[in-house]
Amino acid sequence: MKILVLNSGSSSQKSCLYEIGDVIPKNSPEPIWQAKAEWNGDRAEVSIRTSRGDNLKNRITVGSREEAAGPMLDTLWSGITRVVSGPSEINVVGHRVVNGGQNYREPIVVNAEVRATITRMSAFAPLHNRAELEGMDIIAKRFGAIPQIAVFDTGFHSQLPESAYVYPGPYEWLARGIRRYGFHGINHQYCAERTAQLLGKDLRSLKIVSCHLGNGCSLAAIQDGHSVDTTMGFTPLEGLMMGTRSGSVDPGILTYMMREGLFTGEQLDELLNQKSGLLGISGISGDMRQIVALMKEGNSRAKLAFDIFVHRLRSCLGAMIAALGGIDALIFSAGIGENSAEVRAAACANFGYLNLMLDSEKNQSSPQDQDIAEKDSAVRVMVIRAQEDWAIAKKCWSLLSANVGSTGASARLETD
Ligand code: AMP
Repeated sequence: MKILVLNSGSSSQKSCLYEIGDVIPKNSPEPIWQAKAEWNGDRAEVSIRTSRGDNLKNRITVGSREEAAGPMLDTLWSGITRVVSGPSEINVVGHRVVNGGQNYREPIVVNAEVRATITRMSAFAPLHNRAELEGMDIIAKRFGAIPQIAVFDTGFHSQLPESAYVYPGPYEWLARGIRRYGFHGINHQYCAERTAQLLGKDLRSLKIVSCHLGNGCSLAAIQDGHSVDTTMGFTPLEGLMMGTRSGSVDPGILTYMMREGLFTGEQLDELLNQKSGLLGISGISGDMRQIVALMKEGNSRAKLAFDIFVHRLRSCLGAMIAALGGIDALIFSAGIGENSAEVRAAACANFGYLNLMLDSEKNQSSPQDQDIAEKDSAVRVMVIRAQEDWAIAKKCWSLLSANVGSTGASARLETD
């Protein structure tokens, strides 16, 4: 089965193509083809790579997502990066959809009704859901009636207990869809499953805290194989401090600023999403690499940004561990989680009382899909490479194979 995965960001379009036979491999394979278009204003940088080693880089002028994504998708069947004979060779397209709301937990084939719900949810996640709908339209135009599957970042959190998802505002908020949804679910779930696989344990027997620390940051408390608490809420703004997002701040600050006429709602939105976090505090950068480098040069604002990031990470970690009533494994994933030994060491430093002991040599050794705790640590500490696209491809395969399976064909997962 050839599965195209689309990850549509507000100013980027990423995509990759996987091929899965009648058994899902245990380890994620290289995609056959992967592409990324990122634009700033009307200039887009497009880069394409194949598993054969072909590389293509291009700069194009664009006025819409389609003008960036269209030529990018054409390279699947034309030029040096050609990997299929034409669109008909691809069986299914999977989309990462950030907010599926209360309606959708599991991946679902996109039809008119699903589209309408994703459109309705755009009011809650305007930057994301609209980009994803555009991605679906581009595919429909180029691929015709190919099955398109939506995989939701909120899905993994759909079994949060009521006490974790209802905000303590007026109860009527809930009926209006104002509740905690949680995000990064595709990666939190993948990391939890990968951790259980690497430790040789049944996922349902583990209490896990997963730290997705990238441009966006969130934690998930995982028990019995599903999320029971998480730091992001109604939007991906709640919780931890992030690259350019504030995370949780006293809502009284916002009502004060609006009351004083200092900012409109839209301006506050921009302030909290794009001008806060590591960037807001350091005044220089929202990139943790730069923050750490500046801190080492003695920049006090960068040091403060790092310290706030760690302080909030530790507080939220404590909250997640309390929600679980213990912890067997702590996972670090995404750009910062996978690459910053400094953040991992600082995050773990205050949990010695739980007998959580990081092996500092392993922590420094660029680990990947590896346990970096000391041998007799009471808590395993895992570094897991984020593989959202592969996780989406697997879900598409499972959904389609289940349908095919009911008509006689067989499909199964590779096991130990
Ligand atoms: P992601 O959203 O997962 O792509 O993560 C992107 C973020 O990861 C960047 O903004 C950086 O802050 C961070 N990052 C990537 N590499 C490193 C590194 N070597 N050290 C610290 N942070 C890193």
